[in-house]
Amino acid sequence: IPSPRLVVGNWKMHGLREQSTRLARAVAEGAQALPDDVRLVLCPPFTQLASVHGIINAAGPAAPLCLGAQDCHTTSSGPHTGDISADMLSDLGVQYVILGHSERRQAHGETDALIRRKVEAAEAAGLIPVVCIGETMEERLEGRTTTVLATQVEGSLTDDFSGVLAYEPVWAIGSGSVPPIDELERTLSLLHGLLQSRLKMDDIHVPILYGGSVTPAQAPTIFSIGSLGGVLVGSASLEAKSFLRIAESA
Ligand code: PEP
Repeated sequence: IPSPRLVVGNWKMHGLREQSTRLARAVAEGAQALPDDVRLVLCPPFTQLASVHGIINAAGPAAPLCLGAQDCHTTSSGPHTGDISADMLSDLGVQYVILGHSERRQAHGETDALIRRKVEAAEAAGLIPVVCIGETMEERLEGRTTTVLATQVEGSLTDDFSGVLAYEPVWAIGSGSVPPIDELERTLSLLHGLLQSRLKMDDIHVPILYGGSVTPAQAPTIFSIGSLGGVLVGSASLEAKSFLRIAESA
């Protein structure tokens, strides 16, 4: 079993100051009771990174808490109005950055090539990229899942990628549906194989997360897959109790 298992909370575009600090405080308090081999990564919107960082800091270095962001630019600074660079995130105490989420691929037209440049920028800034890949329902029904995942692994990762890969079937996100567990197991071993052939290193340490409608009720079954590196949680991460219950199953 890869250790520690990551439980990443993607808050998306949710949370004003009060709600975000309340949520982060409640997670930090509950995190003290978690087993040693679990690490929580809180990914608030950019505007709440500094305040959540303060709460994580106050919890102390022994707390299994890290700060993550939801995107970064491909360059470290420059004339890019409205963008945020990986260096800026790192400077703020951010350790992880989610890249290539399906919502950014769809709503912002992010391509594998662009995501790869963001991965390079994140790595150069010392951040750990969490790269999201996954097939749509249409691609799944057409039997193209393997091809789609292979293309995304090929295009969006760097040759010496040592971040985190998140398998998020687009149809599972926010839908309440999770792939059947035997199918998920097969997809994970497919991804391990794709990483082996894609990356130009002998020693590959890339945890693979599952994301898409992970709830406290589903979590024990999902975590029963031994090779799973953790989960990426959307809606259920907006409530401290449910996020912590998911982490308890890790
Ligand atoms: C996500 O969007 O990354 C996600 C996993 O969302 P949810 O858990 O709400 O399906």
